[in-house]
Amino acid sequence: MENRQLVIIGAGPAGLTAAIYGRRAGLDTLVLERGLFGGAINSTADVENYPALKRTEGMALAKSLREHAEMFGPELRECGVESVSIGGNGKIIRTDKGDVSAEALIIATGTSFSRIGCKGEDRFAGRGVSYCAVCDGAFYEGASVVVVGGGNAAVEEAEYLTRFASKVHIVHRREEFRADVLVVERALANPKIEPVLGYTVDEIAGGDMVEQVVLKNVKTLETKTIPAEGVFIFIGMKPELGFLDGAPGIKRAQAGWIIADDKMETSEEGVFAAGDVREKFLRQIVTATADGAIAAMAAYEYVSNLHYLESALFGRPHAYALLISGIDPGHLAIVQAAEEWKKSSQTDLAIIDVYRAGRIKAKLGVSELPSVAEISGGRAVRTSRISSVGDVKGFMAEAPVR
Ligand SMILES: Cc1cc2nc3c(=O)[nH]c(=O)nc-3n(C[C@H](O)[C@H](O)[C@H](O)COP(=O)(O)OP(=O)(O)OC[C@H]3O[C@@H](n4cnc5c(N)ncnc54)[C@H](O)[C@@H]3O)c2cc1C
Repeated sequence: MENRQLVIIGAGPAGLTAAIYGRRAGLDTLVLERGLFGGAINSTADVENYPALKRTEGMALAKSLREHAEMFGPELRECGVESVSIGGNGKIIRTDKGDVSAEALIIATGTSFSRIGCKGEDRFAGRGVSYCAVCDGAFYEGASVVVVGGGNAAVEEAEYLTRFASKVHIVHRREEFRADVLVVERALANPKIEPVLGYTVDEIAGGDMVEQVVLKNVKTLETKTIPAEGVFIFIGMKPELGFLDGAPGIKRAQAGWIIADDKMETSEEGVFAAGDVREKFLRQIVTATADGAIAAMAAYEYVSNLHYLESALFGRPHAYALLISGIDPGHLAIVQAAEEWKKSSQTDLAIIDVYRAGRIKAKLGVSELPSVAEISGGRAVRTSRISSVGDVKGFMAEAPVR
């Protein structure tokens, strides 16, 4: 099977930034993309909140991102990922063009938005129809807009849009909003917001851009038309993660978003999540690229540690390891003494900073630091808490278990 150090699923802003950082760190990097390189920004007309660019077309930014990534030589492959299985240190990615195994995996597959499915929705996408108020709200200064949906996202985004729009109609098919009471109360107190309850959107109409929205009463089926230059649809969004059904170990938040720590690492060792697909506060290009950079550097650290541990501990018949935390001054004093002793006595002792290689502690069954472990046949056969380099010497002087 094809083996790669870093595989990235998804070539949106998160995945392509991860490819830039991964390659610059020297990782053999493969990016898998089933659609357009550049991701969701391909479907937005203008972007004006990505720092230093002031204003650019979405497709131009996507192209530029791809070209920037290509400059560092990752392999960009057009293929869809069908499933992922994770076991031990190996991650197997099944695609419609064959299987790949990865030492580290970054999932950057973004989101999908629920659509109304009405006439005009596709035609006016990016020309008045939007799924993101933070992205597009500022283009509607002084305009009349329609927000579709009744949950927290719809009502909160409607309120956000009142910063720009002169009028915001919130269209919801039920007679009451689903959003939290406080959210609804605050929104309805805003004179620019007008709820239109018990209606669905029947058609979005206009010339080049959206001009009006045709609404249908769910009970009487009567229609009415309201003028609008923008239609913001918030009837649901979800992470693109159908291929993860075979990897139930990856912890997910409500609604399925991947939970990742501040290094973007998921609950599975060596599996990272970056961009819109993870549980986070703000889903934007700038946060996706930041996630991608962090995930790639954390993947680099993971792969480096894997190789080091493989050669220093697990790939050998017998080894000793001193486990410390590199941010504890007391531990660092022991490390200094151990380094001197290693040098003078030619002792073979691997010194592992658990702060950087967190999972090694659990792998060796060590609960407290600093500790020393004897490893034989790829597993810890003996461990002991220590408080000085003398304790390490004592531990290693005992008969080895092997
Ligand atoms: C209409 C619109 C306008 C927007 N405007 C702005 C804006 O002005 N400013 C801003 O900051 N943000 C904007 N956003 C949000 C921004 O696009 C996202 O936050 C950003 O693209 C997230 O990047 P990502 O890499 O996490 O995911 P995405 O960009 O969604 O990329 C994910 C990629 O993964 C691929 N993929 C998914 N599943 C698979 C699979 N199984 N196999 C292989 N590949 C797969 C997809 O094809 C996609 O290319 C907008 C979004 C939309 C939809």
